[in-house]
Amino acid sequence: MASVELRNLTKRYDKLAAVDDVSLRIEHGSLVCLLGPSGCGKTTTLRLIAGFVEPTAGEIVVGDRVVSSPARTVPPEARKMSMIFQSYALWPHMTIAENVAYGLTLRRLPREEIAKKVSGILATTRLADLAARYPGELSGGQQQRVALARALIVEPETLLLDEPLSNLDANLREEMRFEVRRLHDEYRYTTVYVTHDQSEAMTTADLIAVMNAGKIEQFGPPEEIYARPRSEFVARFIGSSNIVRGKALDSAHIMVAGVAVSCTGAALLAGCDAAISIRQHEICIERAEPAGDRHNVLPAIVARNVFLGHSRDYMVEIADGAQLRIVTSPEENIAPGAKVWLRLPAERCRVLEC
Ligand code: ADP
Ligand code: MG
Repeated sequence: MASVELRNLTKRYDKLAAVDDVSLRIEHGSLVCLLGPSGCGKTTTLRLIAGFVEPTAGEIVVGDRVVSSPARTVPPEARKMSMIFQSYALWPHMTIAENVAYGLTLRRLPREEIAKKVSGILATTRLADLAARYPGELSGGQQQRVALARALIVEPETLLLDEPLSNLDANLREEMRFEVRRLHDEYRYTTVYVTHDQSEAMTTADLIAVMNAGKIEQFGPPEEIYARPRSEFVARFIGSSNIVRGKALDSAHIMVAGVAVSCTGAALLAGCDAAISIRQHEICIERAEPAGDRHNVLPAIVARNVFLGHSRDYMVEIADGAQLRIVTSPEENIAPGAKVWLRLPAERCRVLEC
């Protein structure tokens, strides 16, 4: 079983902790994405798992074997892992079939066995017709599939992918996401997939670990990370939420610009500074002053209104000067300067951890 477990893993470069006390368990056969902005430590984490980098502290356990610790590291070639880099580094002078066969040729497998495995993997990666071509004669997406085929043919227990689609154009990138997931479902190796792209992570992953400054901020299924971001960083990074600040009135109410707003999630502590997150499309804009219940209704002034075809993108300012971004249907055309009322549904106002 090739579960991969990181235990208090740290990698320092001088004063900088590129990976800072990270603990994470990746079950056998699952696909986990490390998602975060550039420089947050994703590649370093992956290189630690692969064995190209030695930890400063902590350890990595694969199955029941410690493969990395400050005292001892198992070399990359003895880890039963394949890693695919951002540049797929195919050998230009070899055909596609030769490129894909390379890992097996190194292992000196019988020629017939190699031929059988190569044709099998070329079929699953939809490259059979291209076997005799050279990498220079392939499109970016096809080259990417060759890199995948080459990594998979050695039957790794663990597959490590570092931003594998970032060299592809947008359409192809979308298509290849599904391809990566399909191949994972077919082979069921343990996969760690590094990306800075939220929708790439959502499409491919069973579980997402959101990273920020060397740490994991939240780990969970895509739906949970999206619906219940625990920190301001996760709320902003996943689905670009608004962050609304105020003072907690009691466990489930926060005072924002003079209005009591009921919210959901973790209990608040009365009197403390608090923040909630709410997504751009979850706020309703109303032109007329609402009669009756004023809970969760914030007066605001429209600062900007941009027509985007399928939607309209507003920036509005509430009484305490904070600005919120709101996406509405394109029909809702309200001029800048107009006074409006914002309705924030209580079940969409999620309390953030301080
Ligand atoms: P990501 O892949 O998320 O963009 P990296 O893991 O490449 O981030 O880098 C994390 C941090 O560690 C960055 O600040 C980077 O500059 C630093 N770093 C990475 N590798 C080295 C190295 N070999 N020497 C010094 N600093 C490094
Ligand atoms: Mg990187």
